[in-house]
Amino acid sequence: MYDEKYWDDIFTSFSAAAAERGRPLPSVSMMAATTGNDPYAVLVSTILSLRTKDEVTLASSERLLAIAPDVRTLDSLDEETIRNAIYPAGFYKRKASQLKAIARTLVEKFGSRVPGTQEELLSLPGVGVKTANLTLNLGFNIPAICVDCHVHQIANRMGWISTKSPEESVKALEAIMPVRFWIPLNELLVTYGQTICLPVSPLCSLCPQEACCPKNGVQRHR
Ligand code: SF4
Repeated sequence: MYDEKYWDDIFTSFSAAAAERGRPLPSVSMMAATTGNDPYAVLVSTILSLRTKDEVTLASSERLLAIAPDVRTLDSLDEETIRNAIYPAGFYKRKASQLKAIARTLVEKFGSRVPGTQEELLSLPGVGVKTANLTLNLGFNIPAICVDCHVHQIANRMGWISTKSPEESVKALEAIMPVRFWIPLNELLVTYGQTICLPVSPLCSLCPQEACCPKNGVQRHR
């Protein structure tokens, strides 16, 4: 049903429409680009991005990486210093403690490096599938579908999948999407969800796929 040509068309049309709205890259993608896809920078920035506005994530990531450019330095910092650097990221107190625990684990078990498998990443304190998969994508160039709220919502609105949770969506998308689209999917749909397919009242009149979108679950749109 969804062949390579279909996905090429989705990626091309969504990218062009989002670009017209002038939206910059998501913060984690920007951190990856500016650090040469450093897995440590990607992991830290992804953790900071959870429940945090994009512009806050970027500034918090830059402040933390300026004082802790590697795992060993992060491990040497006290929690209060980390907390002050990442404030006002969402749940900054909890995240400071999590980052400290992750740094300790990386030093003790992984030779002060961020590991490159999903299983190892999931063994780090508080790291879930979304964080693990984005780290694999942007830090190691390993295909793994990263589903956040935008990916989950747009994939269901478009009728590609019919799922109740992001975890279910990972499996469902893996089944219908060729592997070469797995890495760019998150960046595309985060950008699209921030510019056109907005969480509340999407701008369907600007969407190049409106004619074929069933708008599943959309209550109102513009
Ligand atoms: S038509 Fe509307 S709901 Fe469907 S993908 Fe486009 S913006 Fe989103």
